Amino acid sequence: MIENDAPKALYIHIPFCTNKCHYCDFTSYVLKGQPVDQYLDALEQEMIRTIETLPPSRIETVFVGGGTPTVLTPPQMGRFLNSVRKHFPIVENAEFTIEANPGTTDIDKLQAMRDGGVNRISFGVQSFDNGLLEKIGRIHNVDDVYRSIENARKVGFDNLSIDLMFGLPGQTLTHLSDSVDRAMELGLPHYSIYSLKVEENTLFHKLYERNELPLPPEEEEFNMFLLLMEKLEKNGYAHYEISNFAKPGFEGRHNSTYWRNEAYYGLGAGAHGYSNRTRHVNLKGITPYIDASTEKLPRLETFDVSEQEAMEDFMMVGLRLREGVKSSNFAKQFPEHKLEVFFGSVIDKLLQNGLLERLEIEDDTVYRLTNQGVLLGNEVFGAFIGINR
Ligand code: SF4
Repeated sequence: MIENDAPKALYIHIPFCTNKCHYCDFTSYVLKGQPVDQYLDALEQEMIRTIETLPPSRIETVFVGGGTPTVLTPPQMGRFLNSVRKHFPIVENAEFTIEANPGTTDIDKLQAMRDGGVNRISFGVQSFDNGLLEKIGRIHNVDDVYRSIENARKVGFDNLSIDLMFGLPGQTLTHLSDSVDRAMELGLPHYSIYSLKVEENTLFHKLYERNELPLPPEEEEFNMFLLLMEKLEKNGYAHYEISNFAKPGFEGRHNSTYWRNEAYYGLGAGAHGYSNRTRHVNLKGITPYIDASTEKLPRLETFDVSEQEAMEDFMMVGLRLREGVKSSNFAKQFPEHKLEVFFGSVIDKLLQNGLLERLEIEDDTVYRLTNQGVLLGNEVFGAFIGINR
């Protein structure tokens, strides 16, 4: 029997965007004509049912993602944030993040966010090259980025992060180098940098199938990763997770919940949640989500995660963190197993191949990626799947 682990992390999904980016497979719908107020009503219904079903004790991190949460108008934003704070016991020093897109954050909206308890903003910038932004279907330009950051600072936000992308069609090492330099000039405390993945059901996937997507060659993409790591580290940012870099004390706390394989609430259309070794996925369509929320929790599916899968997840997501995984944490989550026994053969192989290293720290054994392992992360994570099945 797994003890009841009321999540301390809360994720809420706002599934509307001004338009659809060419690479996007997230649950997001073009805003025009959407019943946003009804969606916010439905979200509040889901909050009420959620806390009845799994009462929270304290919420330490909130992450509002999308979609583009900042397409809400200032009054909608105020109302939404009020309902979050009304239903969930958010602790005083909680990390409260909202994802935003440049060009959707005027001063009034930022003020509504600040008044509503938000203390961290993650901007989807992706590139500082207007030509590339247009090619990937983003609607903002570089000036919007500068204006948004300036506005956020004016309103008092100092915990800011931006997302950048590499491996984009037509992107060169020079493009990436320039984008990273311009991002560094902003002097923010946190940067997330992801490689493009061509997902099914996206415009990019169609182009890829037709051989019309000029992706950089694999070696160039590898060099991009090396280049951005070098630049970020040179500028004093710790590479604390495969795709994330921070100044000390500014590591993203909410996402660390996922990387530590801990419980989280997930509300909103298409959102996932995880607790008591059960995972759920919510209905994705706006109307089905709204309709279902009037009578019940708007689930698309709920399924048990087997102990084996949970252990695999623990390793795969935990090794994304540069601090690695601790034997003691594994023992806490899986008291009937020992990490070195269950995954002994794969760990030995990865140690031998130089992709993993073992450290003894304060009576604990820690396994973490080597520099080489970081570059071949997917190979390492994949090695933990299907062992002992
Ligand atoms: S802004 Fe983000 S969520 Fe919206 S379409 Fe673009 S990638 Fe998808």
